[in-house]
Amino acid sequence: MRPTIVAGNWKLNPPREKGMELFDQVLGGLASLDPVGGVPDVWIVPPAPFLGVLGERFRLGRVPARVGLACQDLSVAGWGAHTGEIGGELLFDFGCRMTLVGHSERRQGGETDAETAEKCSAATAAGLIPLLCVGETEAQRNAGDTVAVVDRQLTAVLDGARSDSPLWIAYEPVWAIGTGRTATPDQVVEVHRAIRESLVRGGRDGANTPILYGGSVKPENAASLLSEEEIDGALVGGASLSAESFLAIIEAKKTTAVGGE
Ligand code: PEP
Repeated sequence: MRPTIVAGNWKLNPPREKGMELFDQVLGGLASLDPVGGVPDVWIVPPAPFLGVLGERFRLGRVPARVGLACQDLSVAGWGAHTGEIGGELLFDFGCRMTLVGHSERRQGGETDAETAEKCSAATAAGLIPLLCVGETEAQRNAGDTVAVVDRQLTAVLDGARSDSPLWIAYEPVWAIGTGRTATPDQVVEVHRAIRESLVRGGRDGANTPILYGGSVKPENAASLLSEEEIDGALVGGASLSAESFLAIIEAKKTTAVGGE
């Protein structure tokens, strides 16, 4: 059975005090969620400077077990003379257990498929689960290339990785990220099924790999997307900056999960 996961990517937000308040509000809201129905695993993905202070909370056991700390990116550099880089082992040391890799905002900044593959391997070597982000631009969708693009992005990673190394996927159509436009549940399910086929071709257990959807997920559209059995959760950007919205999305996955109420 695949885990259900809701991850909040704060991107380059918010200022320190607001971020700490947001974290406390999310934990407070989770504590009052009725656990019946299977609350999804929740990941907080803040900008790197928050990792020290939040990681300390995790280290002291002040965070419930179903909440994890993740980073938005990592460097493939190991320890040493790499000014400005943040490597996987250091991130692990500060409490991260998962990392985004290949987010479209990094790909738009020039990150290549080969680099995402290297980052996935570096993450795994450091003990971090890579959450690989894949997705097509609007022009690629209009040209009918969605599945080919996603397959290419995924295959680059699968080719260089051991088939038993942990890997989670987020399908994030570029045209839906931060735009207020969301893919329909049918569009998402179609791509998720294609991703599972790519995973199997790459020697992976496609049926048991969690695949999240990301792209303008909000409380208003969360239930229709997350009630699909194919969609194992959400990678949430903008809406994760409001505890109320983020908790409503978590609640939507909980109440629509298979076996839930
Ligand atoms: C994201 O940053 O991965 C994302 C999906 O952003 P948003 O929810 O704002 O579209």
